[in-house]
Amino acid sequence: DAIVLFDGKDLSKWQSMKGGAAPWKVENGYFQVVPGTGDIETKEKFGAIQLHLEWSEPTPPHGTSQARGNSGVFFQGKYEIQVLDSYHNITYPDGQAGAVYGQHPPLVNACRPPGEWQTYDIAFTPAIWQGGQVHIPAYVSVFQNGVLVQNHSEIYGATEQILPRYNPDVGSVGPLRLQDHHNPVRYRNIWIREIKPVS
Ligand code: MG
Repeated sequence: DAIVLFDGKDLSKWQSMKGGAAPWKVENGYFQVVPGTGDIETKEKFGAIQLHLEWSEPTPPHGTSQARGNSGVFFQGKYEIQVLDSYHNITYPDGQAGAVYGQHPPLVNACRPPGEWQTYDIAFTPAIWQGGQVHIPAYVSVFQNGVLVQNHSEIYGATEQILPRYNPDVGSVGPLRLQDHHNPVRYRNIWIREIKPVS
């Protein structure tokens, strides 16, 4: 029942945040951020999902801290799980790879060296709203390379550097978004499964 979002061939399931086709580069079974072209997002919108995604950091590495291999995976287009080259690269705790950016550092640094493929397996459930208020917040669990780095972490709101806030306009579904942070990070083998309520 998986929905394949990238099978190594094309970005037909994705679009530019600026409108039009996704402008990132596809080659050899992966695609790569083209710095400066902006974020891309899925055409389809999702609520609760399981995500599998593989990513690889530029080698040799360039830059330090947040400038080294920065990208990100945004659920509902709003809540970022950080993608960063955190292999021998110090940055602030909740800005590391595997962080809920600006909210929760990863439980452990599970990074492989740049140039090696890494995996994210993520379960995300959106916030549930009642009368314009968050009734139940969004939650996320993340395995990086098979290692638990977020264990049912509460999401405090849309990703901001300082004060995350929920915006009722987000609703119950949204696109999956990938960040152009001006570093040529690669992605491949992306699929999701929608988490259906137990009936
Ligand atoms: Mg990022």
